[in-house]
Amino acid sequence: MSTCACHKCQRQFMTIKKTSKLDYSGFKYSNWVRRTKTMNLEHAVSWANALNNTERTCLEKENGTRWSELHRLSYFDPVHFTVIDLMHNLYLGTAKRMIQIWRKCNYINEKNQLTMQELANGIVIPCGYARITKKIADGFSFMKADEWKSWCVIYSPFVLKHVLPAKNLENWILFVDTYRLLTKPLINNKEIDEAHSKLQLFCTRFQTLYGKSAVTPNMHLHLHLGDRGFLDDGDRVLHKLIKYETIRQNIQALAFELRQKSIKSYASFLFYIFYSKIHVCDWMKILIRLLINAQTLYSKK
Ligand SMILES: [Zn+2]
Repeated sequence: MSTCACHKCQRQFMTIKKTSKLDYSGFKYSNWVRRTKTMNLEHAVSWANALNNTERTCLEKENGTRWSELHRLSYFDPVHFTVIDLMHNLYLGTAKRMIQIWRKCNYINEKNQLTMQELANGIVIPCGYARITKKIADGFSFMKADEWKSWCVIYSPFVLKHVLPAKNLENWILFVDTYRLLTKPLINNKEIDEAHSKLQLFCTRFQTLYGKSAVTPNMHLHLHLGDRGFLDDGDRVLHKLIKYETIRQNIQALAFELRQKSIKSYASFLFYIFYSKIHVCDWMKILIRLLINAQTLYSKK
C-alpha cells in the first residue's frame, strides 16, 4: 500500500501502530503540496525505468504512481481528471461513517432509534427530498444516497438534538452546513470558500473528539473539494443525477396517483400537492406536467 495515497496531493500518510491502516489525520491544508501532471509523469517514468520489481515497489509506495500509456497523451491530466464525487464522499462516505461511530460510542442504540424515527415521521419533507419512514428505526440499513442527503440536511439537526452531546452535535452541524452549501443548485466562489473552512473545522474537531484512528480517507478528500476538485464537472454532474432521479420518481408517483383518481377529485388532489410541499417552484413545474396529463385524460373521456 502506498503511503502517498491521495490522488490530489503529495502527503505521506504514516501507518497506524500495530495495524496496516494508514493514518489520514492532520488537516493543515495550507501545508499540503498539490500533485501536478508534470510531477506525476516524472514519478511514472521513474517507475517504468526501475531496474527490478523491488525498486518499483519502493517507488510505488513512496509516490503512489505507476506507468500507464495514458501518460503519453499531452491533454491527459491524471490529477485534474480524478474526480472526487460528492455522492460517495459526502452522502455514502462521512454521513454513513458518522452513524457507525455514534453507534460505537452508544450515542445511538436500538432504543433511541425508535424515538428518532417517531420524531422524523413528524417532519414535513419538501419536494426533491426523500422521506425516511422506517430506515432510522431499522438502524439506518440500506439507505440510498438521496436518503442520506435528506438525513443530513433535514432530519439530523432536529432528531439528534437529544441524542448527541453538545460538542458532538455542534461539530455535526458544521458538516450539515457544508452539505447544504455544496448541494445547492448554484454555488459561488465565496460559498465554496465557506464550505472549505467549515469542512476543515469539522475534520479538525472530529479528530479531537473521536481520535486519529477514526479519520477516514474521505475526510482527507473533503478538503480537496474546496480547491479545483470541486469545480471539476464530475462532482456537480453526479449531484445533479441524484436530484433528477428523485424528481423522476416523484413524477412517476404522481402519475400513478393521477390514474387512481377520478377527474372530479383532481382539483382537490392538486391543492393537496400544492399546500403539502414547500418548494413551490419545483412543484409548479410538476403541476404543469400534471395539467397536460389531465388534459390528455379528459379528452380521451
Ligand atoms: Zn490529498
